[in-house]
Amino acid sequence: MSKKILIDLAKFRDPKDGNYNFGECIYNFHPNNIGMKDIVEKAMILFTCRQCEDSPCILVCPEEALEKNDDGFIVRATNLCIGCQSCVAVCPFGSIMNEVFTSKKSICDLCDFNDNTESLKCMETAPKGAITIVDFDENKEENIHKLNDNILVKEFIWDKLMKNE
Ligand code: SF4
Ligand code: SF4
Repeated sequence: MSKKILIDLAKFRDPKDGNYNFGECIYNFHPNNIGMKDIVEKAMILFTCRQCEDSPCILVCPEEALEKNDDGFIVRATNLCIGCQSCVAVCPFGSIMNEVFTSKKSICDLCDFNDNTESLKCMETAPKGAITIVDFDENKEENIHKLNDNILVKEFIWDKLMKNE
């Protein structure tokens, strides 16, 4: 079985002061890039957004930077987003993190992650346990869900919580 990067969303937040630490990154072309924000943005939309029918986040955006894709997921055009955080404030479910929806686009190229990878720069600098390398697959019973072929995300899925499962 091939290795995967496991992201535990809750662990990025310091329980004492509430601040987020997504780790450091070494993306060559953008030295100030924090690639993990790119992954967290995708995970946030996939696992916490309720896909509201009227999507107040889309309506409030002054730059028309948000839209729904064909599958009903919110997509942000980062070239339009000015980081005003209006969507963060209006989302009734807290599905959009202000730490992630800045106007800047973060990029994660997975640092050439493969089966021989032992560690990642972000893994060394993010809070302990937030980013780990594992050799198992999606396990919904353990709240571990597939984001893509390389990444698993540990998160409580809202519709499961609603049904008290
Ligand atoms: S933060 Fe970006 S996406 Fe959100 S409302 Fe402002 S411009 Fe639109
Ligand atoms: S308001 Fe929040 S929950 Fe509703 S569609 Fe927008 S991001 Fe998703």
